Amino acid sequence: MVDVRGVHKSYGPLEVLRGVDLQVQPGEVTVIIGPSGSGKSTLLRSINHLEKIDRGYVAIDGEFVGYRRSGDRLYELREREILRRRTQIGFVFQNFNLFPHLTVRENVTEAPISAQGRPRGQAEALATELLAQVGLSDKAEAYPRQLSGGQRQRVAIARALALRPKVVLFDEPTSALDPELVGEVLEVMKALARNGTTMIVVTHEIGFAREVADTVVFMDAGQIVEHGPPRQVLDRPRHDRTRAFLSKVL
Ligand code: ATP
Ligand code: MG
Repeated sequence: MVDVRGVHKSYGPLEVLRGVDLQVQPGEVTVIIGPSGSGKSTLLRSINHLEKIDRGYVAIDGEFVGYRRSGDRLYELREREILRRRTQIGFVFQNFNLFPHLTVRENVTEAPISAQGRPRGQAEALATELLAQVGLSDKAEAYPRQLSGGQRQRVAIARALALRPKVVLFDEPTSALDPELVGEVLEVMKALARNGTTMIVVTHEIGFAREVADTVVFMDAGQIVEHGPPRQVLDRPRHDRTRAFLSKVL
């Protein structure tokens, strides 16, 4: 399970995360909503240790993501070990971040081979399976520039899954897409959720949250203001700030 406790993060004088606690159980989908600048991306990046946090910790199945504990202090791990632990966490970005010079298949096999040391044959077989899962079997030899935005994002999802991560983080995976391409990406994400993938999704797609989320988290100004089942947070929010935000996005 994902365990985020007391996470604080500042950029200079700006306190972006102000004591965030978040627990996600295996197989659960957590959707994070909140205004621009509330710290959603910073939280995801902190979970992945792409950001160093100032206080608190992040653990996946009891293992600290960027740190080891010695006594009651945490020490940052060496880069190699951080990279190894990070492979337990898939990350899907808003802007796909595919390798432009690699084919779709190579994009999916790269990390399993180079970061996890999987034999090429095994990585290829997994890529074939994952590309089928995201509906892109016929694009395996194409390059990212030859794909639509929706197809690119589906490749990015296959690539994230190729590490067999314990949790997949999505940061506004559909917000860079033309409206007609949003649906195909959400469908892939819904199928993952049905298959029991543990996911934390930052999105403005309230319909997706309603349909798929086990828990909806509303963040504002670096804190979790409220969280609960979608029906509670989206339909009967307890806090004025949640209500004000929802009235703008719904
Ligand atoms: P959005 O919905 O626009 O993506 P967000 O909730 O993801 O917003 P963050 O990207 O986490 O918000 O940013 C939170 C705050 O931290 C913002 O005020 C932002 O300007 C600031 N911030 C983010 N990254 C940095 C950085 N590398 N250096 C300085 N400030 C940063
Ligand atoms: Mg963001």
